[in-house]
Amino acid sequence: MALTACTSSPTGRSQLLMFSSQDMAQLGAQSFDQMKQEEKISRDRKINAYVQCVADSITRHVGPLPGFTEWEVVVFDSDQVNAFALPGGKIGVYTGLLDVAQTPDQLASVIGHEIGHVIAEHSNERLSRSQLAGAGMQIASIAIGGSDYSQYQDIAMASLGLGVQFGVLMPYGRAQESESDIIGVQLMNQAGYDPRESINLWYNMAQQSKGQPPEFMSTHPSHDTRIADLQSEITRLPVSSSATPNCRRP
Ligand SMILES: [Zn+2]
Repeated sequence: MALTACTSSPTGRSQLLMFSSQDMAQLGAQSFDQMKQEEKISRDRKINAYVQCVADSITRHVGPLPGFTEWEVVVFDSDQVNAFALPGGKIGVYTGLLDVAQTPDQLASVIGHEIGHVIAEHSNERLSRSQLAGAGMQIASIAIGGSDYSQYQDIAMASLGLGVQFGVLMPYGRAQESESDIIGVQLMNQAGYDPRESINLWYNMAQQSKGQPPEFMSTHPSHDTRIADLQSEITRLPVSSSATPNCRRP
């Protein structure tokens, strides 16, 4: 039922992955459906077009991933400063994020970073080695249709990092954050965005956190060397052959 495989992440870290990519994709899709039922979806055409445009410009540069063929992007109407991407190619952006990610390049840096978590199978990794591993067996059986998803909804969503609204915080680890940063700026660069804007995004996040810290920073903890690490990765990037995508912020 569950697969155990020791593999290598995109940046060469060794990873223990207990679940198949297909099962994780199905779990992501089911959790995303649940969120769409429970949370308010933005019907603002201009905002949706803008977020979709930026997301498309990034996903275009992601090769095929197991378990799904199309990326789906949903804008949630909420003041939360947050965004996520789930296995199965599901991307959620909260309208509150657009006050912090103020330009297309900055929005691309969040989306690129989130997609980095999907590409590098961080949910699978987290679920595989977390205290939720026992529940993981149940989750695997949901994924193959053997159990009722609603019974395990909270734990399934927590394993994907979506537990905030249920009072459970499941932040990613430092190694995973760094890896997503690297994948994110590489994608930004390939797509024709300015990768240096990822640094400005983090400054904006930090500014915002003088009051209540943005939700995004709770699930994506920063660390001392984050900016320096980003800077050194950015200097290693090749010159991009892509023109800047023409996504207009409304
Ligand atoms: Zn992250």
